[in-house]
Parts: sequence; C-alpha cells; structure tokens
Amino acid sequence: MNIVFATNNPNKIKEVQALLPSHITLISLKDIGCIEDIPETQDTIKGNAIQKVNHIKTHYGLDCFADDTGLEVEALNGAPGVFSARYAGPQRNADDNMNLLLAELKSKENRTARFKTVVALHFKGKLITFEGICEGAITKEKAGYDGFGYDPIFKPTGYKQTFSEISMAEKNRIGHRGKAVSKLVAYFK
Ligand code: IMP
Repeated sequence: MNIVFATNNPNKIKEVQALLPSHITLISLKDIGCIEDIPETQDTIKGNAIQKVNHIKTHYGLDCFADDTGLEVEALNGAPGVFSARYAGPQRNADDNMNLLLAELKSKENRTARFKTVVALHFKGKLITFEGICEGAITKEKAGYDGFGYDPIFKPTGYKQTFSEISMAEKNRIGHRGKAVSKLVAYFK
C-alpha cells in the first residue's frame, strides 16, 4: 500500500517510516509534485493537521496523512502550543525557539510540559484523527544533538536524558508522534 505523508520535514519522515510495517510505503510531497507551502492557519493542532490533509485531497485528489505537533508548557498556560514552529518568529528556527522558551522559563520552578501530536488521515472517503501525548519537563539547558525542534530541551517523564540524547527507536516508543502513528498503523490493520 502506498500513502502520501504530507510533510517536508525529513526527521518526521525518518521517525514515521521506522514505525510503519514494510507493506506501507510513504510517498513524499515531492513525489506528487507538491512544492508549495501547505497552509497551517488554524488555531488548534488538530485543525492544522486536518488543514494539511484537506489541502492534498483538494488539490491532488489523493488519500494521505499529516501530523501537527505542539509543545504545551504548563507555566506558560499551554504556550507555545499551536504556535510552536514560529514561537520566536516567522524564521521558524529551532535554536531561536528553544532560547526564547528557556528565557521565558528562567524564573519558573514549574517546568512541566507535554508534546501533543495529532495525525489526520484521509482514507477511502473518511477523515479520521489520532492523538499522541508525551508528558515531560523542560530542562534548564540544551543537551544532545539528535532529533529536531525542541528535542534538546525536552526530558520525557521517567528519563534522565532529553529526547536528543535517546535513540530514535526509544523516542518513537514513548513519544507523542510514535503513539499517534501507532494508532494509525492499527487502523490500517
Ligand atoms: P509541526 O508539527 O511541524 O508544525 O511542528 C511544530 C513545532 O514543533 C516545530 O517547531 C517543530 O520543530 C516542533 N516539533 C514537532 N515535532 C517535534 C518533536 O518530535 N520533537 C521536538 N520538536 C518537535
């Protein structure tokens, strides 16, 4: 079975590919000739995930899935949340985003945070969503080099290391995207 994964993020493709059984092959946006930026203008993570798959269905007529992820920090009333990608500005730079978040939390005792992913799927005439949550805390400084986005400053609950310091397989096993994609895989079965 072939299915379009509506993302241009190579890290997401790597993580998701590792979770899929061998009979499911991912088709990239490049493969279908989609080179435009897919709009993400909704005010919820779920809304953005749905907006991405609706864009592909409307303009390319293809079944597909997409994910949208946000980091919700308790002491910041859930921010950056749906604005996680452009938290420090439209340049969407991971270092800028992490530096701003560390600065905002500088005087805060409560470092509790969670990643939330929603995967939206258009498949055989149905639109379905799957959610995955990973609880954890924001560290005081960056640690590790692997992964992407906020991984160097997010320590999942029960771990001494950040997402950047654990293997991709382990991140997939306990992480937000892994949980949401596992539900997607179960649906395909
Ligand atoms: P989006 O889902 O690509 O819109 O991601 C929103 C923001 O969260 C971006 O800044 C991503 O880099 C970040 N992000 C998404 N998934 C992860 C993750 O698994 N770890 C760390 N940061 C992530």
